[in-house]
Amino acid sequence: MARTLTQLADLPVTVLAGVGPARSKALSAMGIESVLDLLFHYPRRYIDRTRQAPIEALRPGDEATVFATVRSCSSRVVGGRRRMVTASVVDGSGSLSLTFFNQPWRERQLAAGTELMLFGKVEEFRGRPQMTNPVVDLIGDRTGRIVPVYPQSEKAGVMTWEVARMEAEVLRRAGEFTDPVPPRILEQFDLADRTTAFRGIHAPGSMEEVVRARTRLVFDELVRLQLRLVQRKRQLEVSAPGVAHLIGGPLTARLLASLPFSLTQAQECVITEITADLASPRPMHRLLQGDVGSGKTLVALVALLTAVDGGHQGALMAPTEVLAEQHAVTLRQLLDGFAVPDDATDTLFSASGDGDEAQRPLRVELLTSRVPAARRRRILAGLADGTVELVVGTHALLSAEVDFADLGVAVIDEQHRFGVEQRAALRAPSPLATVPDVLVMTATPIPRTAAMTVYGDLDVSVLDGKPPGRTPVLTTWSRTPVEIDALWSEVRSEVTSGRQAYVVCPLITESDKLDAASAEQTYQELTGPDGPLSGLRVGLLHGRVAAADRDEVMGAFRAGRIDVLVATTVIEVGVDVPNATAMVILDADRFGIAQLHQLRGRVGRGADASRCWLVGNPENPDGVTRLEALVDSEDGFALAEVDLELRGEGTVMGERQKGRNDLLLASLRRDRDWVVRARDVAEELVADDPSLSQFPDLVDELDTVLPVGEETDYLLKG
Ligand code: ADP
Ligand code: MG
Repeated sequence: MARTLTQLADLPVTVLAGVGPARSKALSAMGIESVLDLLFHYPRRYIDRTRQAPIEALRPGDEATVFATVRSCSSRVVGGRRRMVTASVVDGSGSLSLTFFNQPWRERQLAAGTELMLFGKVEEFRGRPQMTNPVVDLIGDRTGRIVPVYPQSEKAGVMTWEVARMEAEVLRRAGEFTDPVPPRILEQFDLADRTTAFRGIHAPGSMEEVVRARTRLVFDELVRLQLRLVQRKRQLEVSAPGVAHLIGGPLTARLLASLPFSLTQAQECVITEITADLASPRPMHRLLQGDVGSGKTLVALVALLTAVDGGHQGALMAPTEVLAEQHAVTLRQLLDGFAVPDDATDTLFSASGDGDEAQRPLRVELLTSRVPAARRRRILAGLADGTVELVVGTHALLSAEVDFADLGVAVIDEQHRFGVEQRAALRAPSPLATVPDVLVMTATPIPRTAAMTVYGDLDVSVLDGKPPGRTPVLTTWSRTPVEIDALWSEVRSEVTSGRQAYVVCPLITESDKLDAASAEQTYQELTGPDGPLSGLRVGLLHGRVAAADRDEVMGAFRAGRIDVLVATTVIEVGVDVPNATAMVILDADRFGIAQLHQLRGRVGRGADASRCWLVGNPENPDGVTRLEALVDSEDGFALAEVDLELRGEGTVMGERQKGRNDLLLASLRRDRDWVVRARDVAEELVADDPSLSQFPDLVDELDTVLPVGEETDYLLKG
């Protein structure tokens, strides 16, 4: 009878020959508890033994793979403190010496008689072949053409050959595997069956078999993940009733008519997608990915006003106080003179039947932790009785005392700054009430396939393109003192022509205090008598500036009473001062790509040409790649691809997939085509059957490999 993965998950490793309490403890230290864990412990790489060379054939300069036995090994201290381990190894044809520096533990590893696979560059030392710091694999006396090399644990004392032996036993005893994926899908993508795949990854006859096996297992990982995401999305859609909003009400219409510009095509498109969600009784869960400066705020406001048009409330949550305050200013400006029916007077006069509804001004409030107590109480009361239509705030909006009378739409700006729990926490007061429509906005785009995985339970809208009339930001990388002098004089000339500049201080640590100190110092140096900014009106902003002073500085900068704002990354997101046309980022190589892109996004917001200078001398090639990427491209999505390439998916997944991660073999970069295919398959399977009742084996496997836990159902809470 064929085995399922669930059956293997129920078997402890102690069922295997030679695995007693000691071995099982060692395996457990590597995260291997069950036979399934062992089966999922995939080789790190493979050695192709047909490519191994006899020692006598080695020539200096070759990169070679050698299979040999240790004859002797010793160590001594050289040059004062460095420990050098030397060994002599032999095969049938000759002997080779090995030298290791700073790897004292090699002496224990390389006991006489040990068989090993070596990979390294051949040198010649006193007429004999030698390798320095070669890659060493203790594969044991394993046969076969392709030898899998497993991640081993020196600490737990579990060696690769030992893992290989256990895998062989698992495969032998398991026999055939049940294949939960419908045969027509396997045929469609020409995929190997399960049994072939597990054999091919652990005990391949050729590298072609490895490739085919890997493809199948990657597909399985991605399909499982997508099935969960699509199921969850489906569940969200049906779990609680949402509000079917009225589209194109008077307030929304008035807003659109009063704009001094027309919407970009991308904005029109996205607004259409969002209003379709709002009109439907299913609660919206949509992610809006839009590059910096693409005009997301307006889109958010249309969604919020739609709620108000129907007599509901809207909330806009921002990650920082600076940003929340700015959003409040923007909203109040755009909604100046807007009125809503005044219910209090309405009831009083409705009997008179003159048809003229009484009106009062639409109320937009700002709620942050800094709002004084009395005012805070008034705002809270207004939210609870529905007389506050719109509220803008920080995470203060999530505190328990915030009760909405009727929250219709919640917008969360710059989602990447919030934890996922916070997204879940913004909700209607009682579980019986309708749930608000949620729009999450991010200006840190991630590649499509990554979004499909990380935000796979949300619908995704993309706001591409920028409002017209923007000139691209010319980005320069300044390295030499001459270039740096030149940039400061350009900054001064921008200021002379009436425009403004930002200077971003070096990022010291994650510590507010040290960053503040560094910012103070940078400020002193720049504004000192001989400083490049001396004589200009310069403001300073960092996390330790007192709240009132911060408002003062930000207000003065917005109003043009300050020429240059020296700041830490507090200005990273959202700050919108169109007259600022110069951005100088000091020690730019210490920032990540997304952060640099965000910072640069503070300029290029008006019609005037803007410039950005990246000052820095990167210490590593990645730093160079980052700065070059910024110089080459202003497209957040393209930069996101570079970032993913440089940093790997861990960083993208990190936000949400922390801890358990089913992607052992699959890579969001390398396997991006398979991500899309897996998504299609998952949607097809879930389509008419959200609980997958036609595929009991698949359900069983999902429950074993990817159980619905805290991570998967956080959004359903409340
Ligand atoms: P972000 O997407 O980075 O949050 P904002 O919403 O802050 O961008 O918009 C950036 C600037 O573009 C704002 O000053 C806004 O008023 C302006 N803007 C938005 N939409 C348009 C448009 N359709 N035409 C011209 N300017 C626009
Ligand atoms: Mg914004």
